[in-house]
Amino acid sequence: RLRPIVVGNWKMNGLKSSVAEFSRITEGYDIGLRAKTDLAICPPFTLLSTFAVVALGSRVLIGGQDCHRSPSGAHTGDVSAEMIADTGATHVIVGHSERRADDLDTNAVVHAKARAARRAGLIAILCIGESEAERDGGKTLEVLETQLAASVPDGATADNLIIAYEPIWAIGSGRTPTLDEIAEAHAHIRHQLVLRFGDEGEDMRILYGGSVKPSNASDILAVENVNGALVGGASLRAVDFLGIAHSYP
Ligand code: 13P
Repeated sequence: RLRPIVVGNWKMNGLKSSVAEFSRITEGYDIGLRAKTDLAICPPFTLLSTFAVVALGSRVLIGGQDCHRSPSGAHTGDVSAEMIADTGATHVIVGHSERRADDLDTNAVVHAKARAARRAGLIAILCIGESEAERDGGKTLEVLETQLAASVPDGATADNLIIAYEPIWAIGSGRTPTLDEIAEAHAHIRHQLVLRFGDEGEDMRILYGGSVKPSNASDILAVENVNGALVGGASLRAVDFLGIAHSYP
């Protein structure tokens, strides 16, 4: 079985005063969870360096929420994968639907960002997922296939790429697909990864994201081919986030 990873995406939340909550996460993880699962927090850029220092004594991993495709240059307001790695972070989310919205991050852009992550030695957590209209139209598997084909770079390995399946309509809504629907989507993603990467595709972790909370985590995390979770709202409080991580069967 693949070692799972539970990732917290703090989105645009968190101030210096949030260090205390993050410390509670690191303490809780190091006490009872390390044997079960990897754990990562992706805070806003402003907190990356601070969190990386707090995390030094623990095994909690740190990641960015996005990166630019270039290592440096005239890109006002952007942050490169190299800069993220420089903080001590090991992961970076690319292609989150909140960034894909309005065509800001197209599949081609996400592809370039995933390559940038690899160039910098970071593990990319690459997000894909269908809209509600696409799900209602029976297009979910097709959409996932297209996003995978166009945004996952050649040469990706289980050591530098994690896929996160996040149905857009399930994000922040309190709604989730049924366990059968999650199983179907994850099996399809696994199949595509194996078709393209062979045995390596068997070892790539596939996370589920979208309204994961302590009350539904144990069911979702027990689904075949679900190798962890990408958690938004419920990752902001240590008690909820650790509760989710403890739910791993
Ligand atoms: P919620 O857990 O708040 O639904 O957010 C999911 C998400 O977008 C994580 O990246």
